[in-house]
Amino acid sequence: MTNFTLVGVTLADGSNANIEVTDGRISGIGKKTSGETISAKGLIALPGFVDLHTHLREPGYEQSETVKTGSQSAALGGYTAVHAMANTHPVADTAGVVEQVKALGDEAGYVQVQPIGAVTVGLEGKQLAELGAMADSKAQVKVFSDDGKCVHDPLLMRRALAYVKNFGGVIAQHAQDPRLTENSQMHEGAVSAELGLAGWPAVAEESIIARDVLLAEAAGSRIHICHLSTAGSVEIIRWAKARGIQVTAEVTPHHLLLTDELARGYDPIFKVNPPLRTQNDVLALRAALIDGTIDIIATDHAPHPDESKDCEWGAAAFGMLGLETAASIAQSVLIDSGDSNWQRFVEVMSTKPAAISGIVGQGLELAVGEVANITLIDPSAKREIRGGGASKSGNQPYEGMTLPGRVVHTIYRGAFTVRDSKLVERGQQ
Ligand SMILES: [Zn+2]
Repeated sequence: MTNFTLVGVTLADGSNANIEVTDGRISGIGKKTSGETISAKGLIALPGFVDLHTHLREPGYEQSETVKTGSQSAALGGYTAVHAMANTHPVADTAGVVEQVKALGDEAGYVQVQPIGAVTVGLEGKQLAELGAMADSKAQVKVFSDDGKCVHDPLLMRRALAYVKNFGGVIAQHAQDPRLTENSQMHEGAVSAELGLAGWPAVAEESIIARDVLLAEAAGSRIHICHLSTAGSVEIIRWAKARGIQVTAEVTPHHLLLTDELARGYDPIFKVNPPLRTQNDVLALRAALIDGTIDIIATDHAPHPDESKDCEWGAAAFGMLGLETAASIAQSVLIDSGDSNWQRFVEVMSTKPAAISGIVGQGLELAVGEVANITLIDPSAKREIRGGGASKSGNQPYEGMTLPGRVVHTIYRGAFTVRDSKLVERGQQ
């Protein structure tokens, strides 16, 4: 493998250094150079990003995304690992399917694709899936989720929590009471009342989170809450953490930036699950990300083909793209706001998501001897968002917006997957 040196990078603590990479690992951080020299002045070098919540859609929905196109989109967004959600067809509820997804990720070679296993067979919420078999498989699944659906039965949730505790696994809950959200279309509030769209009350999320942190406490197990979207959810997580409950939580980039006001145009590009909430919720989520109540940013990258979005609001699919824009929104919320710093950025985008999932070789601070998973970004760049990038889908909620920062290079296991903001051709390594 080629050796190279990234010359003059800025590290998360603000210091400058050269980073030498040899045979896939960081071989030096300091003043020396070796091999090819690549000028990286003005670029911030960070551990490769890790997404805990990605919909890659394969197997079954390849018209929306494939493991390869989703991996390419992830690399362009600065990621070196993604966790693939289980709501594929067939559902990733057996060792066979999770191993297939992992193999497709290895074949594409752009990022480490770590499959998430379903909690219940077929995501049907009736019977626990073979969690142990998925954990013991080549995919080594540690994170289980019925995402897209809520594990609504408290007995099943209790059993799942008790079971995964045996091998250090974690249940990631999509908190949505199904009865309180039947036919729901958008956040329940002043805007939904005005528009005449069926509301999606905050309590449908909050009541499930409250129940599940208590179940996790009773089981002495870990729980992770997907895509927090309300100020009330933040309060519950804050309370649970103060009580010592082993709970972690994620927020999506879109819930940090966009509000339910966007529904006024009836453009289904803004239809998402959980729904965009109010400005008050956005501010609470931002504060919680900064103070650590919310642990990480996860994209919930949810590609959909045009025919699922080019229709009236009520008929459209829920979801939006996220992989290629997440770092920009993280920069906007944490850095450009003046409210936080690059060290926190590293935590929410890389080290903490990796720690929650237990994924090996990812989310490690840049240090000599570690696997060279490195993302370099130009924080001074501005870019106008056009289209869906490498994704097979185009449901881009930031279309036409100017976002800060640009991923310039992504280095995965010592090789460039993105160089000068362009994809590098890959394949099985
Ligand atoms: Zn979800």
